[in-house]
Amino acid sequence: MERTLSIVKPDGVKKNVVGEVLGRFEKNGLRVAALKMIRMSKDEAKGFYIVHKERPFYESLTDFMSEGPIVVMVLEGDDAISKVREIMGATNPKEAQPGTIRADLASDIERNIVHGSDSPASAQYEIGYFFSSLEIVNPAG
Ligand code: UDP
Ligand code: MG
Repeated sequence: MERTLSIVKPDGVKKNVVGEVLGRFEKNGLRVAALKMIRMSKDEAKGFYIVHKERPFYESLTDFMSEGPIVVMVLEGDDAISKVREIMGATNPKEAQPGTIRADLASDIERNIVHGSDSPASAQYEIGYFFSSLEIVNPAG
């Protein structure tokens, strides 16, 4: 059993596909262990994406991630980290496999609908960035 952090990004909330994204995770056997809608400040977005601070897209990405509300969630399941990455598809929607969230719902490498942690270390950092231990439940009861 593994936990990962996922986000429906501001473009996903605007396109009204929160339920669509959540449903794809649930249909693939993942369970929601924590969930909330928030809006990040620019500085909060910069902290979340601190690993990308030297990348040319950092400023634009953090503007985008703070432009409107997002839905952040902890997902739990076997191989949750790699499973979420598979369901999301490649970063660039044009390179994503058909049937993935990004291929089906996104059209832009920046505005690509969804985030998922890429490793156990990033999952730990990202879950702790948004949720305290008291806010994460055992979804199976
Ligand atoms: N991104 C971008 N331009 C790029 C690469 C990434 O705007 O050339 C954005 C995009 O929103 C991506 C995020 O930065 O989801 C984080 O990049 P990363 O390489 O971690 O991709 P991900 O893990 O989200 O697939
Ligand atoms: Mg990443």
